[in-house]
Amino acid sequence: MASQLAVPFLDLRVQYRSIRAEIESAIGRVLESQQFILGPEVAALEGEIARYCGARRAVGCASGSDALLLALMALGVGPGDEVVCPAFTFFATGGAIARLGALPVFADIDPASYNLDLSAARKAAEGCQRLRALLPVHLFGQAAEGDALGSLARELGVPLIEDAAQALGARDSSGGPAGTRGAFGCFSFYPTKNLGAFGDAGMVTTDNEEGADRIARLRVHGGETPTLPSELGINSHLDALQAAVLRVKLQHLERWTEGRRSNAAHYDRAFAELGAPDSSVPLEASDDFPLRTPKPPDAPARHIYNQYVVRVPRERRDPLREALAQRGIETGIYYPRGLHQQACFRAAASGELPETERACSETLALPVYPELRPEQLDHVVAATANALT
Ligand SMILES: *Cc1c(COP(=O)(O)O)cnc(C)c1O
Repeated sequence: MASQLAVPFLDLRVQYRSIRAEIESAIGRVLESQQFILGPEVAALEGEIARYCGARRAVGCASGSDALLLALMALGVGPGDEVVCPAFTFFATGGAIARLGALPVFADIDPASYNLDLSAARKAAEGCQRLRALLPVHLFGQAAEGDALGSLARELGVPLIEDAAQALGARDSSGGPAGTRGAFGCFSFYPTKNLGAFGDAGMVTTDNEEGADRIARLRVHGGETPTLPSELGINSHLDALQAAVLRVKLQHLERWTEGRRSNAAHYDRAFAELGAPDSSVPLEASDDFPLRTPKPPDAPARHIYNQYVVRVPRERRDPLREALAQRGIETGIYYPRGLHQQACFRAAASGELPETERACSETLALPVYPELRPEQLDHVVAATANALT
């Protein structure tokens, strides 16, 4: 019988047990204060995240989705405006644009990094009548190229908004931290992100003081005080309880990120030994071992592996997933459909997105969370090898 060892896709309980006492004391502090919305815990977390990212300001809000919405609102994006973004991403990237009555204009991705393809983004932007922003995503924890995106945005005369929901602590190839390369960086602290709250939470980073102040107003209905709003905002608070939890966890984030990176390197090595090149080499019918590991970006870039995503031929992806499940290994599919293939975005039909569609049918995310044990990683590799050869 095939060997069996449970490998959950993500098990947050192990991490929680390692920091339980610190968390309980942080939560206790908030309970004693009975101040639950914004306040000193949130202000302290904002300062700590700004410092961690190297941004001048950070403004907390209720989720990563709201961070995107608030950034777009602060730039005045509205009905009929166009925003270029990828279609190979979580729903919220396009959702925030469409929620404001603007049109997401989808551009294809680079097949090696899964991030926005620069020439595709340029082409999509040049076809726009009312382009208002460029919205790249730092997918799976790999920073998209800030220098190139920044100069494209400048050339087009529009701001850059970064969806850095999966990329806190990631750096691009010039060493620039994800979320600090444009007008606004948008982060999520959803529990499955590398820095996860005990519920929903998000943050916007910026070097622009006025922009930060505007976001801080927009998150409380649009006013300095919620009773006298000066413009139309939303209700998007970061809870003090979440901030207190996140402040504890931020102290451990570097260690956890190194754990993810070391697990990714373990997979890279093991799959390379089995003959799998990285994602810069296209899949071939003649492959002995038909799998591609995620191409690690060159230093000083830093991939933080929110997901470790491999590519296999499309007809083998779902059977591989099933074979791994049989052996107790959970995997994820991010994302089964491009945003352009979803009914609510069809109005914003873009050109063909072949790389997006190929990635949707060929990729599989393997467990990579920091607390995985080496024997669990080896079990994933052995079961994958067994299913593909
Ligand atoms: C998680 C995520 C979001 C949304 O964050 P929430 O906190 O869940 O609202 C947006 N974009 C991307 C790419 C994400 O992964």
